[in-house]
Amino acid sequence: MSVFSAPAFDQHELVTFGADKGTGLRAIIAVHDTTLGPAVGGCRMFPYASEEEALHDVLRLSRGMTYKSALAGLPLGGGKSVIIGDSRRDKTPALMRAMGEFIHSQGGRYVAAEDSGTAVADIRLMAERTPHVSGMNDNEFGGDPSPSTAYGVFLGIRTAVRHRLGADSCAGLRVAIQGLGHVGYYLARHLRNDGATVYGADLNEANLRRAVDELGVMPVAAGEILTLEVDILSPCAMGAVLDGRSIAALRAGIVAGAANNQLATADDSARLQDHGILYCPDFLINAGGIIDVHHQRIGSADEVKRSHVERIEQTLAEVLLRADSTQRPTHEIAEDLARECLRPASGLNVAALRVAG
Ligand code: NAD
Repeated sequence: MSVFSAPAFDQHELVTFGADKGTGLRAIIAVHDTTLGPAVGGCRMFPYASEEEALHDVLRLSRGMTYKSALAGLPLGGGKSVIIGDSRRDKTPALMRAMGEFIHSQGGRYVAAEDSGTAVADIRLMAERTPHVSGMNDNEFGGDPSPSTAYGVFLGIRTAVRHRLGADSCAGLRVAIQGLGHVGYYLARHLRNDGATVYGADLNEANLRRAVDELGVMPVAAGEILTLEVDILSPCAMGAVLDGRSIAALRAGIVAGAANNQLATADDSARLQDHGILYCPDFLINAGGIIDVHHQRIGSADEVKRSHVERIEQTLAEVLLRADSTQRPTHEIAEDLARECLRPASGLNVAALRVAG
């Protein structure tokens, strides 16, 4: 397996592989960029079909974290880790402690938080072996950053609705959510409270049932959710759901979700634009979680955290305006903006850009 010539390798500062015989741990940590600070990012556990697939995922995800934190105005770099394994079958306390030791061996360059397949309880186990973890404060949600992610995505949807439909709320609109897990559930709640009709699909029957019973979400088969005729599609499950084939079949005018790396390839942002679909860049609107983790680390008050998450609205509005005036895809505009924030000498920040308009 090659790392430097892997398709998703993007001058990552560090890619390191860890294994532990006793617990069966096999994991990869990728640090993409630490220009703005230590690389903070989730630790994902997933039954990857191959090591190449795990490497591809961790390289893409860590790069996305660099852009996400930069655009959110956080003093953090981009990193991510993956554990190869099925979280429902292979996860043990000893394995999580071994992951903690692996993280510790990186000396603080990478700081882990929860992600798909891991939970706050796992981060607590890692914390027995390393201080380089985050996202386990005893707040209302027990340290879970997902409610903040959902809030940011909801604000992103509202911003897109205002921009595209000229409406001030989601009242009367139809939204399809793919994945009703940690983020999808809280997102559905925001949307229902805002007057939307919410359709949802989940491969996990219990998660689907919870959203149907508690929130009045309308259940849809997993194979049909992407092509439902709705105003907004919100991918909140796994990445790479938007490719040439799925984009051609979409019947939503706006795509705005929490899943990382929704675009299968770089060309898909232009493809969405060509189909007249307003795409809200994932790494911009799903930054609520990393903003939450950051404020947990520095001990901010809830109001400070909340108003930071709310800046997502203005940043997205800026990206949508620039996309309109340049006729370029939203994803490219957002990436450009993030790269500008990464230039250390530029002193540029997103708030200043907005004022300059
Ligand atoms: P989760 O694992 O809690 O929920 C994902 C849900 O999607 C699960 O219920 C799963 O059964 C379902 N699912 C998987 N494949 C599906 C499919 N093909 N069709 C329908 N349902 C499917 O994860 P989460 O924490 O809610 O995160 C959701 C996405 O958002 C992930 O891509 C994650 O990386 C991203 N994200 C999460 C956060 C966060 O704060 N949790 C922050 C940023 C990005």
